[in-house]
Amino acid sequence: MAAPQLAPVRGVLLDIEGTTASISFVHDVMFPYAAERLEQFLATEWEKSEVQQACQQIARDAGFESLDQWHSATGSSPQQLVIDQVRRWMAEDAKLTGLKALQGLIWQSGFHSGQLQAHVYPDVLPAIDRWRQAGIDVRIYSSGSIAAQKLFFGHIEGVGNCLDRFSGHYDTTIGGKKESTSYRRIAADWGLPAEEILFISDVADELTAAHDAGMQVLASERPGNQPLPPDLPFPRIQSFDEAPLP
Ligand SMILES: [Mg+2]
Repeated sequence: MAAPQLAPVRGVLLDIEGTTASISFVHDVMFPYAAERLEQFLATEWEKSEVQQACQQIARDAGFESLDQWHSATGSSPQQLVIDQVRRWMAEDAKLTGLKALQGLIWQSGFHSGQLQAHVYPDVLPAIDRWRQAGIDVRIYSSGSIAAQKLFFGHIEGVGNCLDRFSGHYDTTIGGKKESTSYRRIAADWGLPAEEILFISDVADELTAAHDAGMQVLASERPGNQPLPPDLPFPRIQSFDEAPLP
């Protein structure tokens, strides 16, 4: 297949799972780590304000006004309510803000202790460096919380801190990844016309939403990804080296 053609690009917006990092790393290493550590983490860190904030958001995401109201409505202890709810959502791979915040806090403790190290595909960092040298601004948009994204790119195996390569991070607080409004908001925040932003992701609905918002898109086909719909009308790449960029 001929290399995909792009109009001029001034910004590249990157998804993480299935695009810069393998889904299996996130699913086989990071999610199980958070699941394994959940109970112990809440037992020792419950009083911390960032943990309380995440758990209040989890209560709201579960349909209650607050942890207290959730507790009064059910009689269970707030910690147990959070544990049970988070386990259900993790099993469903739910993308909820409070859940993501709590997972991010658990990962933070893992990355800081060195028990967790992040992994990206070998073509990712060299490509980002080439793009940046060519004056292209690179940002991340992931359903993982911004705090989790920063931890991830702050602790890359064999490299260490890669955060200086990114001039911005977006998560679901700007909107869901399958909604085109989110991509319009990102372009506005970025200060670039959507047409000059290239979004790379492995999820068809995300690519369609970004395309509807006016962005250029490339579909990422990494080993272990869900196959893309055959009729998806966007160019596909198996490595960032195939992106028609510098
Ligand atoms: Mg993805």
